[in-house]
Amino acid sequence: MIVAVTMNPSVDISYSLNRFELDDVNRVETVRKTAGGKGLNVARVISQMKEDVMSTGVLGGTVGDYIVQQLNESNVRNDFLRIESDSRNCIAILHAGMQTEILESGPTLSEQEGIAFLEKFEGLIIHASLVTISGSLPKGLPTDYYCEMVEISHKKGKRVIVDTSGESLKQVLMQKKKPFAIKPNTAELSQLLGFEVEAEIMDLKQTLNHKIFAGIEWIVVSMGSRGAFVKHGADYYRVTIPEINAINPVGAGDATVAGFAVALNRNQTVDNVLKTAMTTGMLNTIEARTGYINKDKFKQFFNFVKVEKMY
Ligand code: ATP
Repeated sequence: MIVAVTMNPSVDISYSLNRFELDDVNRVETVRKTAGGKGLNVARVISQMKEDVMSTGVLGGTVGDYIVQQLNESNVRNDFLRIESDSRNCIAILHAGMQTEILESGPTLSEQEGIAFLEKFEGLIIHASLVTISGSLPKGLPTDYYCEMVEISHKKGKRVIVDTSGESLKQVLMQKKKPFAIKPNTAELSQLLGFEVEAEIMDLKQTLNHKIFAGIEWIVVSMGSRGAFVKHGADYYRVTIPEINAINPVGAGDATVAGFAVALNRNQTVDNVLKTAMTTGMLNTIEARTGYINKDKFKQFFNFVKVEKMY
């Protein structure tokens, strides 16, 4: 089983309007509501890949109830810690080709809730073979909170993939116990290192040699339509993908983490792990829905991914 963590889930609401009038009444007929958050996307795609997954994290209130209901409807097993405050709504207003977003910052967790989740997490991962941690932390938790989760995973002998950014990522990389894998994109790498990371092979090779990455088994730098650049142990790989008709690339990184986790969990070869990760990323990109892939198209895309070892 793979345990997929989301600490700040949301209900993502999208309103499609022909015209958006400020300071006036806007009536909307087309409303879409989905359970959102990076770790939920990961869990859904793992489940669509027919791998056993448990979605966890923290949620509360009626918004939290809706998230659970949606996960149950899509047959994603879940076990979240209930918190005092409501989970957040994130609203996207789609109008005349534009997207106006109104994002709630979400609940503030108490110290007790933070401790309670770590206890729950420790219990849940006993039966896990792999753990994924995705997205940002809710308010109230310290920026080194993921470090504690990585430590617990180490203690229980579980491999953990961390996909986060900013201060939380920095803290996770600077602690003694390293995550098994990370999946930054070039913007996240630039933010982490404090300089502009170019998507050029020689530059990336040098960048991933930085001491901050020492001891991490897999670093998958995803580069959108340009595929990925990867460090595995002491080896470097360039992964290229076919040109595709991108419909909605939002969540492609999460789908990539999902494919990566599934292939690792199935003890696949390096080639197949990377091809699977790229394929699930692409399959997410060709769908309108975020965190959804059509598995029937898997082979068709997988066969066009190229993995090249760099010397
Ligand atoms: P997000 O934060 O939206 O989840 P990300 O920046 O973490 O995305 P990307 O690097 O954009 O992740 O995408 C991950 C993978 O998805 C890519 O490596 C690639 O396989 C696939 N992908 C994303 N965008 C495209 C695209 N426009 N065309 C083809 N494949 C894509």
